[in-house]
Amino acid sequence: MADTNKPSASEKPAPQPKPPNIIASPPPTSNLCTSCNNPFKTRCSRCHNARYCSPACQKKDWQYHKTVCPSYASLPPRPSPKHSLALHLPVDSCPAYIWLEHESPIYYHTTQNPKTYVGTNHMCRTISFDRYRPLHRLLGFNMAIWHADAFLLDGSAVNESVREMLGPEVAHRWRGGFLVQGFDGGCYDDEQKPVDLDTMVMAPIVDFLRFTAKYHDVGYDFGWDGMGVAGE
Ligand SMILES: [Zn+2]
Ligand SMILES: [Zn+2]
Repeated sequence: MADTNKPSASEKPAPQPKPPNIIASPPPTSNLCTSCNNPFKTRCSRCHNARYCSPACQKKDWQYHKTVCPSYASLPPRPSPKHSLALHLPVDSCPAYIWLEHESPIYYHTTQNPKTYVGTNHMCRTISFDRYRPLHRLLGFNMAIWHADAFLLDGSAVNESVREMLGPEVAHRWRGGFLVQGFDGGCYDDEQKPVDLDTMVMAPIVDFLRFTAKYHDVGYDFGWDGMGVAGE
């Protein structure tokens, strides 16, 4: 029976639906140590993800890695090709990796409402960056941090998931929850493919938050009215 259904050589084959794209890139591949620009030699024995060139570099990264290793080590499998790995920085607990579903095969925007993770009913925005300044290293992708639009003014509490890593000098400036997504660069929305985040991103995220709070007026630079912030 199967043979009779085969198109003859002269028949034009019916157009086939396009296969779904695999939208999430694999975790950013790098042969570099998390803490310096030497090639890595070992991986964290628990999550098998963080890469280091030496025990000294592993020790240096521990302040960041200890906050994300347990979550990464216990990740469930990817639910579908439409999911990519994002990092939730909750306002009142530890960082946690989450599988985010996307609305389009080639666009990093998610079907899951970022407000759920940010913890607000009001408008959210993103700020993006693409490098780890202390090592003069381009990440090879962009990171977008979702945040409440007016977290300095809306009564949001200081973000506990990054408070210790940021230190008392600037931690009070980052309030509310955050959701961090990775995406490939590109000027057009449909070129911004999701990229899985791995454990190597924690130090760059903290550096970006620290730098932004220390060397810019968080309120002014991002268009918020930063005046009148409690404790300033
Ligand atoms: Zn190193
Ligand atoms: Zn680990």
